[in-house]
Amino acid sequence: MSMNTQGRQTTPDAITVSEHETVSGNKGLAQSEKLIFEIGTPRRSGVDFPKLKGTKSRLGHMARTGKIGLPGLSEPEAMRHYVRLSQKNYAIDMGVYPLGSCTMKHNPRLNEKMARLPGFADLHPLQPRGTVQGALELMDELSHWICTLTGMPVVALSPKAGAHGELCGMMAIRAALDAKGAAHKRRVLVPESAHGTNPATAVLCGFSIDSIPANDAGRVDMAALRAKLGDAKEKNDVAGIMLTNPNTCGLFENDIIEIAELIHGAQGYFYCDGANFNALVGRVRPGDLGIDAMHLNLHKTFSTPHGGGGPGSGPTVLSEALAPFAPVPYVEKHKDGWRLVENADDKSFGRTSGTSFGRMTAFHGQMGMFTRALAYMLSHGSDGLKQATEDAVLNANYVQASLSGEMSPAFGGICMHEALFSDEFLEGTGVETLDFAKAMIDEDYHPMTMYFPLVVKGAMLIEPTESESKAELDRFIDVMNSLAKRAKAGDAEFFKAAPIYAPLRRLDETKAARTPVLRWRQDI
Ligand SMILES: *Cc1c(COP(=O)(O)O)cnc(C)c1O
Repeated sequence: MSMNTQGRQTTPDAITVSEHETVSGNKGLAQSEKLIFEIGTPRRSGVDFPKLKGTKSRLGHMARTGKIGLPGLSEPEAMRHYVRLSQKNYAIDMGVYPLGSCTMKHNPRLNEKMARLPGFADLHPLQPRGTVQGALELMDELSHWICTLTGMPVVALSPKAGAHGELCGMMAIRAALDAKGAAHKRRVLVPESAHGTNPATAVLCGFSIDSIPANDAGRVDMAALRAKLGDAKEKNDVAGIMLTNPNTCGLFENDIIEIAELIHGAQGYFYCDGANFNALVGRVRPGDLGIDAMHLNLHKTFSTPHGGGGPGSGPTVLSEALAPFAPVPYVEKHKDGWRLVENADDKSFGRTSGTSFGRMTAFHGQMGMFTRALAYMLSHGSDGLKQATEDAVLNANYVQASLSGEMSPAFGGICMHEALFSDEFLEGTGVETLDFAKAMIDEDYHPMTMYFPLVVKGAMLIEPTESESKAELDRFIDVMNSLAKRAKAGDAEFFKAAPIYAPLRRLDETKAARTPVLRWRQDI
């Protein structure tokens, strides 16, 4: 039996090309692609250096004698390999990306152009201060607008993702408690509808978690919260609350002001997960709600690319009470220009004057993302940012209303920036949320977020963002409604077979998660 280079049989009578298989493994001009180690050979190279004459290696016995183990490819082979891989990526630039809680919105090209200006792109963090004044000014201006939009006095720009921002906020809370001699306050209340990173962050900072159930409306159960604080009065060990707003059910926490008052009444701090600030910008200022610390995801709310397109950035705003504990470095304007306050114990200047909890990253944070986020803010203006918020919420409600006939909305009423469904409409069909998502792949739609939040059975969380037009949403809605009808009509087999057009069909996801193979080895 002979095999082709893709490891497929080529002996004619052995070929059993099923309806959806091809001899090559390629499908509809999409190439099947192996790992670079499998297609490369050490003898091939993309460059051709002449042998050096008259030189002697100075490496001595340190010179490598064994194989280097890197794959060798010609230039066109290397080029094609990476282009083919890139084509396997689904991207916001290709179509609707309804991944709930992730805010996959359009990344305006103007932002990219600004971030590529050599004055921002070609800087080094160790350059002398006098040569980076423009970059520091940009950071200061971004801080100003973040503080203005959130109604908070200070912001720490250095956290490099949403979860990193949570860490920043909780470290500030811990430092503030310790400074007050309240180191016994180590219990953090976390509602069930909070993002999973919230309890993880609190535990990482040495707090214990106390979960608050959600009520029937998908929001914090206030009676349960009061009960938790009731016994806290005796023990007084509540450090604070970590609340996601809008929460992971896509709902605004209506009792947020009362929650802030209750927490402050128990001498605790209010951490708000602001990753979903894109549902609030221009409409609500978190500072007015009594929040003490909140991170923003520039890579969600302010459109900087993420999910393979770029690094995250999680600036964290802090209230007056927490401001002295903010991490270094941060930008300050002085008579002679802008400078970075670098040392946590620097008592001579800076708002922290020796009280900063320390440093979270080697340098100052994600400069490229700061540039993009400020470009987004300035090009939209305050009216444009508010409009983007309103359009995102309108789009989500349009999706929720249009799918409510066939699918099952998890909660009644209006949602914020994302629409949440349960798997109730699939009951008795033999089709599960996962099968439904796989069928979406065949329709060329990236699946929505699944099985999250945990408070809803078989959850499907759809976040269209403001980027999508009505025509695009209508196409998506048509597909979703048709799939729901098909499932209810009893065609479970169709769903169990999906995806049939993807380069690889169903993967063993459990095995991939439990025994991941992260490194290529010859013998595997
Ligand atoms: C995305 C998200 C996070 C985590 O942000 P990362 O940048 O991925 O660390 C935290 N909370 C909520 C509500 C989110 O949506």
